[in-house]
Amino acid sequence: MALDDTWFTETNADNGAAFSLKLSKKLHEEQTTYQRITIYETEHFGTLMTIDDLYMVSDRDNFLYHEMMSHPALFTHDAPKDVLIIGGGDCGTLREVLRHPSVTCAQQVEIDERVTRLSEKYFPELCASNNDPRAELHFVDGIKWIKDSKPDRYDLIIVDSTDPVGPAEGLFTEAFHRDCLRVLRPGGIFIQQSESPLYHMELIASLHGALRRAGFSDVKTMPFPQPVYPSGWWSATMAGKGRDLAKFRDADARAKPFDTTYYNADVHRAALALPEFMRKRLA
Ligand code: SAM
Repeated sequence: MALDDTWFTETNADNGAAFSLKLSKKLHEEQTTYQRITIYETEHFGTLMTIDDLYMVSDRDNFLYHEMMSHPALFTHDAPKDVLIIGGGDCGTLREVLRHPSVTCAQQVEIDERVTRLSEKYFPELCASNNDPRAELHFVDGIKWIKDSKPDRYDLIIVDSTDPVGPAEGLFTEAFHRDCLRVLRPGGIFIQQSESPLYHMELIASLHGALRRAGFSDVKTMPFPQPVYPSGWWSATMAGKGRDLAKFRDADARAKPFDTTYYNADVHRAALALPEFMRKRLA
């Protein structure tokens, strides 16, 4: 039975699956140089942004993704100061990064300025830290930014991108990962959104191969729930430059000087435990 146009549906043809949200109204739609951005008001998930008709961010569940893309890596590093976010135009990851007092500079490099400008208007709470003096917003291709960056520049690189098609395709290549390793300081950490463990296990396995071949010494994938993304189950993959990712600042995570909704030290530890099928595939 087809749903009427008061629902937004993202269909995943490869898996014969779809996920829908009931809409109240369309707030905005535009085609930018890079992609089509649409903003809806939903009945139960608050404001929703889609890019090219794929779920990006909703008020109701973005905390899962943004907290898992930031806090595990930040609490794994001893003292992260310089952080680079590639993509992340909704600014939710940036806000989480800036909750860490050790961070002195967080640069966000988003290819499409319109994603950020529309987020400022429709997701003001995600953009609450955009005027923090430690935040820098740049609007260029993250692949070029990394190529042009000096060696040993960052403690942490977060790739908060769209799926590996279109402008984000080059963010999932070994060449890009080699460039990231070069610009990370010794002990630095790279983390990338890595799609669904249920639907995209081959992508996760090939990402592990690319990161290892690029020279990262440790690679770990953390699954977490994300209701609006395909399968409702998502992942982030961390890679260390000479750093053991199983160890993190547990006491600091327990005493974190800010509130979270999902992340805590126990969730962090649990996220490092791989389900059996992932453990076997990534062995
Ligand atoms: N949470 C989302 C997800 O996993 O589906 C990602 C949200 S964030 C809005 C993704 C951003 O990555 C988009 O705004 C897109 O413009 C940006 N992006 C894609 N490719 C990029 C590139 N090569 N350099 C910088 N930003 C890029």
